[in-house]
Amino acid sequence: MELFQYLPQTNCKKCGKLTCMAFSLELLKGNVNIEECTPLLDESKYQNKYSKLKELLKGEEGQKRELKIGIDIVKCDGCGICVTICPVNARYCYSILSGKVADYPPDKHQLFMVKEGKCELLSIENCRRLVTEGKERECRVCETYCPRVAIKIEYI
Ligand code: SF4
Ligand code: SF4
Ligand code: SF4
Repeated sequence: MELFQYLPQTNCKKCGKLTCMAFSLELLKGNVNIEECTPLLDESKYQNKYSKLKELLKGEEGQKRELKIGIDIVKCDGCGICVTICPVNARYCYSILSGKVADYPPDKHQLFMVKEGKCELLSIENCRRLVTEGKERECRVCETYCPRVAIKIEYI
């Protein structure tokens, strides 16, 4: 659900968040209501965006949701692209940085690995979409670059 595109994208901070992107993540997680972005209500040019957001969230804003990264193992062919391209894996996992194969024993930060020809999500806690070291990011690299469209990021 790409909520960000329906926000004003001015980063005015009136909602108390530093950026519209940060606000969109909070919307996804159910931590804020759309109306906390006051420019959406105050400025008529954003009326269509406001309506679209309401429609997308179906009145369920404010309901807490948790990040889920699903892997469709039927579609997955074990190519290992997600293992090497996830920025957390790429930054912290020495086995990957040193060019070892994607099924090399995982590093403690590692999110994905390939086991017996299929991708496995080892742990979600270091995903950049969650707050780590005080930051969270609208990362969607694994979902975007999986050639088999086997990865789905959602909040449920
Ligand atoms: S109030 Fe709305 S436009 Fe301003 S930063 Fe927050 S989300 Fe963006
Ligand atoms: S969303 Fe980004 S940080 Fe999280 S698992 Fe996917 S690529 Fe890695
Ligand atoms: S990038 Fe997609 S197809 Fe390749 S291992 Fe990861 S989930 Fe499987």
